[in-house]
Amino acid sequence: DRLISSEADLQDISFEQSLRPQNLKQYIGQDKVKANLEVFIKAAKLRQETLDHVLLYGPPGLGKTTLAAIIANEMGVNIRTTAGPAIERPGDLAAILTALEPGDVLFIDEIHRLPRTIEEVLYPAMEDFCLDIVIGKGPSARSVRLDLPPFTLVGATTRAGSLSAPLRDRFGVLSRLEFYNESQLQDIVIRTAEVLSTEIDLLAAAEIARRSRGTPRIANRLLRRVRDFAQVKGNGVIDEEQAAEALELLQVDRLGLDHIDHKLLRGIIEKFRGGPVGVETIAATIGEEAHTIEDVYEPYLLQIGFLQRTPRGRIVTDLVYKHLKIEREMGT
Ligand code: ATP
Repeated sequence: DRLISSEADLQDISFEQSLRPQNLKQYIGQDKVKANLEVFIKAAKLRQETLDHVLLYGPPGLGKTTLAAIIANEMGVNIRTTAGPAIERPGDLAAILTALEPGDVLFIDEIHRLPRTIEEVLYPAMEDFCLDIVIGKGPSARSVRLDLPPFTLVGATTRAGSLSAPLRDRFGVLSRLEFYNESQLQDIVIRTAEVLSTEIDLLAAAEIARRSRGTPRIANRLLRRVRDFAQVKGNGVIDEEQAAEALELLQVDRLGLDHIDHKLLRGIIEKFRGGPVGVETIAATIGEEAHTIEDVYEPYLLQIGFLQRTPRGRIVTDLVYKHLKIEREMGT
């Protein structure tokens, strides 16, 4: 298990639910996305219409699920949640859509993993709020049109590029979530500590923020671990020294990189002289799936300039040699 993975694990799920901000005001950062949504939500409410369909995209753990719930809350409607891989047959989708109340938000996580046959059922549902269902088989088969209550689809994906163009075009609002900066993460850590009734000083919150790879889910997870250390070893209030010590013990380095990042970066340097090397090859070398590298590990390394993507593969930059204190060989 990877402590700093931005993907949720079972332990996280109920913990995260208890921490979720409930409205746009409590949602820290993502100012552009928030400002737009605020206008669209107000306008939809004024016109007494449902909100246009919203696509949220960006790396895992940045708050897409949280934002979907906030959208429903701000609109004053219910949210139904499902995920792309959970909808296997058109009937599964039909069952979900026909159970919606007017105005409801339907949240589909990992929407890029919806099978194409389901996507086609979704098009008329998104556009005209109706479903075309085929009843019977063979020559006696006929198509029946079912009216649906108006609803808002909120889709979330880590890969907007994997969405088919016709599906992407049916979203009225496309919002890209960005990595959070340190001061926003510090605010998130302080807010979470308050929810958990834990005392933490500002410098300790900053230390956790610095090592959270721009990701609230990781910040909250690190805080939880640091709190364990502080409770056992300290006097209850988490200070900077305790936070740094706990994070060292957890093997999260100054920049929030862990042993897998180190393995990945060292692997490229030692086996491929720093690259370029294809992601499939890197995956085979470190024993991970290529798509996990692309979706989970790599975005932050690209963001901080440690990796570069070129047509011939990934290259590690000088910053990595400095950070890992490795001498660059001549001619690499
Ligand atoms: P995934 O894409 O894997 O579903 P996600 O982007 O949906 O991840 P969430 O589950 O919404 O991520 O958020 C992860 C955790 O971070 C939650 O505990 C949530 O409370 C917290 N969080 C996310 N964004 C914010 C924010 N802007 N302000 C405060 N807390 C946040």
